[in-house]
Amino acid sequence: DSAINRIAAGEVVERPASAVKELVENAIDAGATRISIDIADGGKTLIRVSDDGCGIAPEDLPLALSRHATSKIDGSDLLNIHTFGFRGEALPSLGAVGRLNITSRVPGGEAAMIRVAGGVMDPVKPAALRAGTVVELRDLFFATPARLKFMRTDRAESQAITDTIKRLAMAEPALGFTLRDVSGGGEGRITFRADGENGDLFDALHARLGRILGREFAENALRIDATREDIRLFGYAALPTYSRGAAVAQYLFVNGRPVRDKMLTGALRAAYFDFLSRDRHPAAALFIDCEPTLVDVNVHPAKSEVRFRDPGIPRGLIVSALRHALAEAGH
Ligand code: ADP
Ligand code: MG
Repeated sequence: DSAINRIAAGEVVERPASAVKELVENAIDAGATRISIDIADGGKTLIRVSDDGCGIAPEDLPLALSRHATSKIDGSDLLNIHTFGFRGEALPSLGAVGRLNITSRVPGGEAAMIRVAGGVMDPVKPAALRAGTVVELRDLFFATPARLKFMRTDRAESQAITDTIKRLAMAEPALGFTLRDVSGGGEGRITFRADGENGDLFDALHARLGRILGREFAENALRIDATREDIRLFGYAALPTYSRGAAVAQYLFVNGRPVRDKMLTGALRAAYFDFLSRDRHPAAALFIDCEPTLVDVNVHPAKSEVRFRDPGIPRGLIVSALRHALAEAGH
């Protein structure tokens, strides 16, 4: 039922940046190594995500647009979530609230495309594409005018998209990302670019953080790597002397997903409590990896909240690992 789809869609897709997040996560899940994102008018009129991932076979295109059809989970295993996507909701939701066009090709197969607008699907047609997948979303929320009213300025929506891409690019330092603003047509203007970084986990992450947060962050970053009760914390945290003034540079990830979580940011603050005045925020990019069964990332469809089975463990781990690193650095 397309009305129900549109209501559910509003839960998954709040604004252009949430659509970008879903599409880029799909590209990452598809094993892409390079992901290009083109946007126009803050993503309101166009979001186009192109990847060099595994592609979708023509016969699977309609399935990809069906609610709760996901190739990533068998249904009996909702707690064991390893990939980004697990609900099979993003594409049907986007197809319900905008004009969605998917062109794709699997290796050795023929390219095909499918179109859906306002929840109405056209049949699959042959198309031209060398490899991978291009998902084009035009006129987001044209089918839900109430949502349109909540959109902010093009500038604010573009900023939110850039922030989303930067977070995803931190979580995937080996992948290449290009974000282009194509408002007004033509080649457009590159607003963010990071080629895939080389080296091991820490080298690649360090290079990627330098590119995104700046050389000064990278030069003042302490390497963090600690494990407690099967929960691993790693990443980089800045020396208290590194100051971004009042700007917040806190990036937290759980099992590779960007999250915003009060408990985790509270732990970060607690670790720096003796070293930072109240108006300054510790800068860090930290990753928590654990068994998927120890954490619930399904709290909200937009998937940025998390709930740990035992929050004391990640909290204690952050505080002790950061205090230890700060002490070793002479604080
Ligand atoms: P989910 O990611 O939760 O599985 P989505 O609605 O986001 O649900 O996507 C539905 C399905 O479409 C995915 O399970 C996947 O099989 C396929 N798919 C979507 N995007 C891509 C892509 N960029 N490359 C390959 N397959 C894709
Ligand atoms: Mg998905």
